[in-house]
Amino acid sequence: MHKLAQLDRQFVWHPFTQMRDWLQHEPVVICAGQWAVLRDVRGREYLDANSSIWTNLHGHRHPQIDAAIRRQLRKISHSSALGFANEPASLLAGKLVDAANSKRNRKNPKLEKVFYSDNGSTALEVALKLAYEFTRRTRGKLVGRTSSRAEFPRFLSVNGAYHGDTIGAVSLGHIDLFHKAYGGMLFSTDRVMSPYCYRCPFNRARPERDDARNYRQCRWECVGQVEQKLSAQKKKGNPYAAFVFEPLLQGAAGMIPQPEGWLRRVTDIARGHGALLVADEVMTGFGRTGAQSPKPEPQSPASLFACQQEWVQPDFLCLAKGLTGGYLPMAATLTTQKVFDAFLGGYEEFKTFFHGHSYTGNQLGAAAALASLDILQTQSSVSRRARLQKWLQDELSSLWSLPQVGDIRQVGLVAGIELVKNWRTREPFALRERAGIRVCEAMARRGVLTRPVGNVIVLIPPYCTTKAQLQKMVSALAAGIRETF
Ligand SMILES: *Cc1c(COP(=O)(O)O)cnc(C)c1O
Repeated sequence: MHKLAQLDRQFVWHPFTQMRDWLQHEPVVICAGQWAVLRDVRGREYLDANSSIWTNLHGHRHPQIDAAIRRQLRKISHSSALGFANEPASLLAGKLVDAANSKRNRKNPKLEKVFYSDNGSTALEVALKLAYEFTRRTRGKLVGRTSSRAEFPRFLSVNGAYHGDTIGAVSLGHIDLFHKAYGGMLFSTDRVMSPYCYRCPFNRARPERDDARNYRQCRWECVGQVEQKLSAQKKKGNPYAAFVFEPLLQGAAGMIPQPEGWLRRVTDIARGHGALLVADEVMTGFGRTGAQSPKPEPQSPASLFACQQEWVQPDFLCLAKGLTGGYLPMAATLTTQKVFDAFLGGYEEFKTFFHGHSYTGNQLGAAAALASLDILQTQSSVSRRARLQKWLQDELSSLWSLPQVGDIRQVGLVAGIELVKNWRTREPFALRERAGIRVCEAMARRGVLTRPVGNVIVLIPPYCTTKAQLQKMVSALAAGIRETF
């Protein structure tokens, strides 16, 4: 066994990993990468088919991002945002605000303020705390009345939601497998059903060899339930403080895409009931959900955020994973002037937002993010993404011939392939059968690395992936399925 693998096995505890299984084999030790290719210490090469857990955008060792980090290194790597501003964080905030506001939006408040943190979970914690305190301060009757829990601002999120692993983020999440054990530590939030067309109890259509969104037969019962939930809470005299959602696509729930129009409808309803909108674009942000919007905005660059594809303007926009192009841990929570103003006051009023992290506004991270944004906004990156989206669609269609493929759902540059025992009945594999894990292991033996969520295989290639590399990813998946079953 390689000495680094040995050290890992001796000392490292891996995230979301059953370590007994881990300790049964020699781990792959990654030591280098270039574009969509990862190399391990034994000299083997792999395609990074999940963009290093959904973070990487333009590939590894992109010369422009590498150079930006090197330039920043020659100046300084980090200084504290507690007390000081810095160059790249200021520049980045301005660019994020530009990118986050759709020119067509006139109705809703602009996102104008950027609060930096380190990862997706903290980006959500920040939104959560701000929305909570903003609501307490602006809904007169609640201020000062903290005796009854029923009067606290409440949050609504979506079944299957994943918003991170810190306690606030877990409270918003609804994946029992991850979250149930910690129930005693959490605050309570409410959930609405996820618009999971493939397994929707209201979808009366028999399974077809197509994305379930395309052949569903329903009356938007999922939207009706959102309406009911919001109005019931309003009747209790304490309307929801905020509705929290992953726009267009729920990631860790199993790459569950929303049928066109769901997002627009439910966010209109939530706003109508006085809820703030918290968009978790930790996974979907920065072009992941597609280069073209369904109704393209004239004379405007391709939208970088999923919300913009349905003309939704949230009050909070949470960004992390792809923010630095997948180079460094950094996150941002964007919000409105109105929320910002609720925290202004004399020092002695103590209206300060008492929250921050040691590495808030990190200079190296901000320099990488600036370079990544520059690349994203070039015409060549926009057309590369459009091309990749089309290739992905073409390649995936070949998988319908496999009987264990129940649903193939693509949103832009992400795809989830749901494995089932029988596509005609949608009968699922039991989790303990490890169907997804076994298929991914078979793919790894063919030089393609990705991670499943349950029985869903995820393909989320870096934007630099070539056609030949994409074909290899999909054919390794097909071969992996055939070998496993
Ligand atoms: C990954 C993810 C998070 C959490 O981000 P971390 O950086 O892992 O803390 C939150 N929300 C969504 C939608 C994610 O995909």
